[in-house]
Amino acid sequence: MTSRILIKGATMITMNEENERLTPGDLLVENDRIASIDHTILDPEGDVKVISGKGKVLIPGLINLHNHAAMTLFRSYADDLPLMEWLQNKILPAEAKLTAEDVYWGTSLALLEMLRGGTTTFVDMYYYMDEVARACVESGMRAVLSEGIIGVNSKIGHKTLHTAKNFVKNWQGKGEGRITAMLGPHAPYTCPPDFMKVVLKETGDLDAAFHIHLAESRSEVQESLDRYRKTPVGLMLELGLLDRRVLAAHCVHLTDEDIEILADKEVGISHNPGSNLKLGSGIAPLPRLLEKGARVGLGTDGAASNNNLDMFEEILLCSLIQKGVHEKPTLITAAQALELATRGGGRALHMEELGVLKEGAKADLTLLDFHKPHLQPHNNPEANIVYSASASDVDTVIVDGRLVVEGGDVLTLDAERIYYETTKRAKRLQG
Ligand SMILES: [Zn+2]
Repeated sequence: MTSRILIKGATMITMNEENERLTPGDLLVENDRIASIDHTILDPEGDVKVISGKGKVLIPGLINLHNHAAMTLFRSYADDLPLMEWLQNKILPAEAKLTAEDVYWGTSLALLEMLRGGTTTFVDMYYYMDEVARACVESGMRAVLSEGIIGVNSKIGHKTLHTAKNFVKNWQGKGEGRITAMLGPHAPYTCPPDFMKVVLKETGDLDAAFHIHLAESRSEVQESLDRYRKTPVGLMLELGLLDRRVLAAHCVHLTDEDIEILADKEVGISHNPGSNLKLGSGIAPLPRLLEKGARVGLGTDGAASNNNLDMFEEILLCSLIQKGVHEKPTLITAAQALELATRGGGRALHMEELGVLKEGAKADLTLLDFHKPHLQPHNNPEANIVYSASASDVDTVIVDGRLVVEGGDVLTLDAERIYYETTKRAKRLQG
């Protein structure tokens, strides 16, 4: 049976090639796809759920390109610390106590927050990924998941590689196609060259892309230069990783040559301005990446270094910090910032049917309620979203043609149970 939803009379920011806007427009969802979008669609016959878009603005669902979802358990647990102290004295000891069930509940909290905030696709790298995938399937979220592979010694390296390969085999395309599995070699500094060669060799027959942290901090780049006489990007190019499909998180400290390589190899880039600022990592060269046509989108990173999963904050930050740092208010316009969080995310994942409102695209949709003081009047809805809106303005969310958030409530998850479980578990982990 065909399931149908009609959104009627909303302002629609399509993010299509012409950046077309319908004021107002109607959009019809059939099963998992957008069946039509136009100024008016007559009520189709048969069973159809009608959602009023009056006073609301419809955008493609937001795409969060980098997360460690279960780290919601460590929200506001370790702040205002140098990166290594944050990691080694606080996060790693707490993570060592994590159980599979902790990861399930921590991820569920992240899913609740992300869906409530208009995110319809997210990318994750963590441990116990079977539990992450299970939570994602239950929630209705679209997810791109990878088990972290760490090769600091050969025993751990082979064990994590084995787990990561099994994860891909077991989960690719599950959840009615909403789960995409990737391989997650954590970073060049945790997967040294000899081990990275093993990873590439042993995964050659798997149809899976790679998710890696790349050039996040100045010290990472300096160490790579000292050890291998190459930048992290140059090293990954030499090892052959960039001949595969790659999503690279951060990419803060890049040479001009690195930028050319990333654009040329069509590497997806997750720009995570909130996390980079909070951990004092620096500011990524976003305008130069965009100038070269790199495939850039936005991510929040984990809640331990952000500390929320609100994509509207990343949209705002990515624009404001470039304007401020370069003393140039024309940099990263509202249209560009919103594109990064929608169609840009789809491009970075090489999933071009995401992040755009057009016929045939996936029905991943976010409807914002503009009937609020900080979003009036509607002089420019795009600018209102980028400079004035936040996650709490999201009213309705549809993922893969299924209604998952209605009137601000997540229909697929039990919020009170999630708060209870995560509060209890966070206490134990930090004790
Ligand atoms: Zn990360």
